[in-house]
Parts: sequence; structure tokens; C-alpha cells
Amino acid sequence: MQLAHQRLFIWCLIAALPIGAIAWGTLDDIRYKTKGADGNLWAPYMGRGYMVKGEEAPGTVAFTFDDGPDHRTTPVLLNQLDRYGIKAAFFINGARFHPRTAGGPENQAVLRDIYRRGHYLGNHTFNHKDITRLTESGWRTEVLQVEQVLRGVIGRRPWLFRPPFGRVNDTGLARLGREGYTVVMWNLDPLDWKATDAADLLNRTRDVIEQNPKGGVFLFHDTNRTTIQAFPLIIEWIRERNSRLRAEGSPTLDIVGLEHYIRSKR
Ligand SMILES: [Zn+2]
Repeated sequence: MQLAHQRLFIWCLIAALPIGAIAWGTLDDIRYKTKGADGNLWAPYMGRGYMVKGEEAPGTVAFTFDDGPDHRTTPVLLNQLDRYGIKAAFFINGARFHPRTAGGPENQAVLRDIYRRGHYLGNHTFNHKDITRLTESGWRTEVLQVEQVLRGVIGRRPWLFRPPFGRVNDTGLARLGREGYTVVMWNLDPLDWKATDAADLLNRTRDVIEQNPKGGVFLFHDTNRTTIQAFPLIIEWIRERNSRLRAEGSPTLDIVGLEHYIRSKR
């Protein structure tokens, strides 16, 4: 009996740890200490029906990648993100990692890797559908099925949602909020799918930043080879720009995780 009590006490302690980390740590402490489970640790803050527009944390940029995972491109990006110490958010399509689709098992391994490395995973529907046109059964297929399949892969549901084509209406927003999602839009779109090569994408990204000097949430696609090639160039450019601005005493654009955009809502 005594042993059972001890075990119960230890389990309670373990269960309380993530909540404790949020309550007592600073943001940077949490990011540093809990790599590999960040998305889940932040769940109590994300699951409140917020909407991130990209203007919440001036002076910073956050990276989001849509339409993956793809075992041919995403792993290269994951190594680049680790190399630069950047935490990104991946908005995933369920059809890419369903066990019975082509490439499904390979893409499931990539999903586990994204999660293990401490990035956020968000729902981007099963088949990249416009959610303003979904019927009730369409909602189950497109939104809820992604949660089920993801649970099967990493044991967790996603708490972030990005609407395909950026299309949402009040009904959809209300329902996503009730289902515990924070909707993440973007305000920096270099249109990476239109870029002819890495240099062109770097130029597009520079133009977007010059037009939005306060920064915000970037939209890229980890399924796009040009994006993967351009990513290190983009990061090096942001770093050089920051050094130059710092020397001038002007405001910089720090690269941060999406939690900085959600923190401002609390
Ligand atoms: Zn998309």
C-alpha cells in the first residue's frame, strides 16, 4: 500500500512538471529546457481560440512552413533549422502522412522528427481544403481526421490551425475555437512557390521585409525545393541585416518561435 502511494506521488509529480515549467520558467528557459515537447507544453495557451495575424510581436519574425511533411525536402530543412537554432511551425496535410497513402510511412518518420526537435505542428486539413465550404462530414474528414492520424504518430493532437488559402469565415473560426485551436495566419508572404531559384526567393523575401519593417509571421512551404535551397541565404541575410542595424543603433528583427505571437494574447 505504501509503495502504491509512493508511486502515485511520483506519477503526480511527473504529470505536473510541464505545467510547472510554464508557470515558473521564463519563455527562454522553457524553450531551452524542453526541446522536443514544446508544442505540447504550450498547449494550455494555444488551445483558447486565439487568432495570430502576424502583427503581435513587432521587431521579430517567425517561420511557418505549410503543406508538408515531405520526406524528400523537409529533413534538409530540419537540419538547417537546428544549425541556426531556430524553432519553426509546420502546418501539415493529413493526406501526406496517412499510413495508407504513398510516402505515408516515410512522412510519418519526418513528423516524429519535427516533433522530437521541438518545432510546432499545426493542422492544415487532410486534403488542403477551403474550410468555408465544408459540410459536417467534410469537417470530420478534413479537420478531425488530421488529429486522429497525428495522435497515431506522435500521441498528441495539434493545437494550431492554418486555413488553406487563408480562407476562414465566422462559423469556421467559432468552431475552431470551440475545438481548442489557435488559428495562425501570416503577414509576410514571399510567394516561394513562384520563385524561379534560390536567389529569386531571397530577393522576394528581402522585398517583403523592406515593405514590412516590423516583421511578423512568414509563410513558406517545406515541400518546395527552392525554399529549402534559399533558407540558409535568407537566415544569413537577416543576420547580416541585424548586425548592420545594431551597429547603427536601429531596431533589429529577431528570429523567434510562434509562442512570442501567442504570448501577447494571454
Ligand atoms: Zn497550404
